[in-house]
Amino acid sequence: MSRRRQIYEGKAKILYEGPEPGTLIQYFKDDATAFNAQKKGTIQGKGVINNRISEYVFTRLNHIGVPNHFIRRLNMREQLVRQVEIIPIEVVVRNVAAGSISKRLGIPEGEPLPHTLIEYYFKDDALGDPLIAEEHIACFGWANNEEMQDISAMAIRVNDFMCGMFAAINIRLVDFKLEFGRIWDGDYSRVILADEISPDGCRLWDMTTGEKLDKDRFRRDLGGESEAYQEVARRLGLLQDDNGPSEVFDLSKHRKLRGK
Ligand code: C5P
Repeated sequence: MSRRRQIYEGKAKILYEGPEPGTLIQYFKDDATAFNAQKKGTIQGKGVINNRISEYVFTRLNHIGVPNHFIRRLNMREQLVRQVEIIPIEVVVRNVAAGSISKRLGIPEGEPLPHTLIEYYFKDDALGDPLIAEEHIACFGWANNEEMQDISAMAIRVNDFMCGMFAAINIRLVDFKLEFGRIWDGDYSRVILADEISPDGCRLWDMTTGEKLDKDRFRRDLGGESEAYQEVARRLGLLQDDNGPSEVFDLSKHRKLRGK
């Protein structure tokens, strides 16, 4: 691994001091957690795949004018990013009901939502990342009104772009989580997209079969996690050994093995 000074270790990533002030190195681990780290495991090769997928998505978002922290990929597991002051809010964008919204409101999984929904969660592991309203964000000063306008506008842009990007490879973007941070220039700050975008923080369903191609495979013990992540990377054209569609992926095999 690295000899650089570690700034922070999260569940799936480590942040190291970068080569220049205002930069960090983001290292992607194979570790996977779910249900607020009550379930722990590893997904072989996940860090390498997520590093590539996140590089690809952030680069494309940059091209369409969504400012983000990505500078460049350094190696298989590391990328150079801008240091930000992270805003303690997880922004979840939903197109289709699944996961916690289905559980909380009794909406069947797979039901398309009448329109895209943005939810905010307070980033606090000890509290289990509770759902919050915009009023809480304003009341406790986690972000100001202008920042929230930028954040919601960027979230919608990212969603529009990613819905198209994934639809083009026969994947439905069900929902995903974003994180934002501030960068400072003297007394002024602006908000940019930070963290990562990968199958760890998105729900991605094959449009034909409904097969899950994301971390729900780990959360729900479906098996084939590595293969699912690889399949997303392969469809995005990010794997070098692209042998065509039929060779790589047979999740039904994993389901059968686990009797699901
Ligand atoms: O669990 P829930 O249905 O609220 O998750 C919505 C989306 O946000 C999912 O794609 C999930 O992977 C992502 N998420 C995340 N990190 C969290 C909570 C949710 O990446 N702490």
